[in-house]
Amino acid sequence: MLKGKTAVITGAAKGIGFAIAVALAKKGCNIVINYRSHIKQEVIDTITALGVKCLAIKSDVSKFNEAEELVKTAKKEMGSVDVLVNNAGITKDGLLMRMSEADFDSVINTNLKGAFNTTRHAAGIMLRQKEGAIINISSVVGLIGNAGQANYAASKAGIIGLTKSTARELASRGITCNAVAPGFIETDMTNVLNDEQKKKMTDNIPLKAAGKPEDVASAVVFLAENRYITGQVLNVDGGMVMN
Ligand code: NDP
Repeated sequence: MLKGKTAVITGAAKGIGFAIAVALAKKGCNIVINYRSHIKQEVIDTITALGVKCLAIKSDVSKFNEAEELVKTAKKEMGSVDVLVNNAGITKDGLLMRMSEADFDSVINTNLKGAFNTTRHAAGIMLRQKEGAIINISSVVGLIGNAGQANYAASKAGIIGLTKSTARELASRGITCNAVAPGFIETDMTNVLNDEQKKKMTDNIPLKAAGKPEDVASAVVFLAENRYITGQVLNVDGGMVMN
């Protein structure tokens, strides 16, 4: 179903975003990798070795005009934008009473507004195509909160509201929008934790292990392929949060 389609994945030069790019490429999807600071040539080579086209576009998705340029360039170079994965995200942790306004704003602007920015521009293309799948990467923290992550949790909870509203607005035109909420996944983002903190995290996970980027990627592929699921949040968290 994804063969020959085009997927735009934000923040995909490493971590979960890169795993999503690989998983979609394995399904025959042409890939647009968005990155902010830098990308290694081997990232692009890994994707093209899977027999699909791969385009890397530098842009900061927190900027409305840069997100527009990203989506426009993807459409111009690849011919369509069929799947949009809003994966780019940052953390700037700190207790609420010590959190600066700048740290609150930058996390909201990247994680939440970034997803709005790309969706706002990709939706027009998908509406004309009468087809599309938008998948937003939230977090279980957006569902249950986390001490020291008021900005991050707010951005990830906001993504869920954005997802459900987008799903309702675009459903009649054959466009789905869903969220994936990962728990504790082994990437650079969680590598800042020390061994003791990591052990504490995994002890609290029913499946007793951290997840891998590929675990999140397979959930994204499932949602990209399925044409009858929309407005949902799929937790990929080893059972941390059971609704
Ligand atoms: P990483 O830090 O490994 O990757 C995040 C990527 O986002 C980086 O490539 C980064 O690029 C990019 N990025 C950041 N800001 C921007 C921006 N403004 N524009 C474009 N790209 C940007 O994190 P993960 O792979 O772990 O996280 C991926 C997503 O999954 C995030 O949304 C995160 O919140 C979410 N998540 C992760 C969990 C985990 O346990 N790892 C758990 C729950 C959710 P650069 O390096 O150039 O800044």
